[in-house]
Amino acid sequence: MEELRIRPIRDGTVIDHIERGRALEVLKILGVDSSTRDVVSVAMNVSSEKMGAKDVVKVEGREIGSTETDIIALIAPEATVNVVREYEVTEKYVVSMPDEITGVLTCPNPSCITNGGEPVETSFEVEDDGELRCSYCDEVLEDEVAEYIS
Ligand SMILES: [Zn+2]
Repeated sequence: MEELRIRPIRDGTVIDHIERGRALEVLKILGVDSSTRDVVSVAMNVSSEKMGAKDVVKVEGREIGSTETDIIALIAPEATVNVVREYEVTEKYVVSMPDEITGVLTCPNPSCITNGGEPVETSFEVEDDGELRCSYCDEVLEDEVAEYIS
């Protein structure tokens, strides 16, 4: 039945097995908003044998990068990423929790060196409990990770 809901795509990325209720955060991580021109489909509360219910996000014409995948792992650790080319799944992998995230998130500490106009790329260490800590000023991200995407 799932196949009917998620129409096959020609080229793009399907992110499956997203924890129920997290699809909108995944969209934010992918930078999907009202200015997006990619064809994006979202299925929420799809029944899943493994998870009970899950969300699925499909982005046509775009292959998501490893940095985006790393951040998705933080909020949806069971997600699987399927890269589709010419209607075939050419790559399928389970996301994995990164040790570090560089260059995507903004440090909320205004006095952090990464906010000082210097050409310093932000860097956050992922702690064992999933907390993100700035490698420069030790600031911990308190809100949903999607809030800090620059
Ligand atoms: Zn910082």
